Amino acid sequence: MIEITFLGTISGIPSKERNHPAIVLEYYGKRKDTLLFDCGEGTQKQLMFSGISFMDIDRIFITHWHADHFAGLIGLIQTMSLEGRRKKLKIFGPEAEKFVSNIVDLGYFGLRFPVEAINVRFEGSEINLVEEEKDWQVFSIPVLHTVPAVAYCFKEKDRWKINTKKLRELKLKRGRWLEEIKKFGVVKYKGKEIRIEEIASLKKGLKVVYSGDTLPCDNIIKISENSDLLIHDATFLEEEEGKAHADVKQAAKIAKKANVKQLILTHISRRYQIPEELEKEAKKIFPSTKVAYDFMKIKLK
Ligand SMILES: [Zn+2]
Repeated sequence: MIEITFLGTISGIPSKERNHPAIVLEYYGKRKDTLLFDCGEGTQKQLMFSGISFMDIDRIFITHWHADHFAGLIGLIQTMSLEGRRKKLKIFGPEAEKFVSNIVDLGYFGLRFPVEAINVRFEGSEINLVEEEKDWQVFSIPVLHTVPAVAYCFKEKDRWKINTKKLRELKLKRGRWLEEIKKFGVVKYKGKEIRIEEIASLKKGLKVVYSGDTLPCDNIIKISENSDLLIHDATFLEEEEGKAHADVKQAAKIAKKANVKQLILTHISRRYQIPEELEKEAKKIFPSTKVAYDFMKIKLK
């Protein structure tokens, strides 16, 4: 199960109702992992309001180094240190090594835990694996913004579910061979070859994509293909030509082209007091659309 919490949903200038971008993804597998995507100013306070513990965050994925997406790192790192954190914090992003070392050198933090910066590729059209755990992976792809920027994809790994009825039918006993067959796809059982398809069905892992800030581009469509949820930047109802963001209709078209199940628009300009009008426009192109608001939660199963 995945739970997503929007901590900030506005674009460049915050409002009373909306904070700068930050999205928490909590993955409930054999163990729980808490990932943070972007960390705008005030993210630590938003975490407190949401009840999510910032000490659980071991990985932060920055889409690009505009202040609305990273200024919260300073306060968050400081608080983690004051709270006695010892375990490592990983920060991913384009040119992360350069910017993270700048941030850590900015004041007298007295850091008592290691901060590892991991550079993410921001050129080309490849989907890059940037982080991996037993049950999930995070990928990135370069997107089209005014500065080096990437989109991220959280992908739960596909897994085989053993069909116990089939085991009974074939008179097969449970055992360690079931782990082997999941790994290799085929095993010898009492001299007989058994293929995984005969006794199990493949459960597709959940897929969530976050665009960060981008103009429409082929890369965002590529990484979003068939995802369960696409969280896309949609600053304006209609983007003036030559700017830096996808508008509502463009984001909806991307969701449609990429054949995603659900679209959530975020990074909304403060100009829109009633975001329902954005939702209405997007739905004309892609019906399964919502506009994000601060502390909105989405569960995926
Ligand atoms: Zn932004």
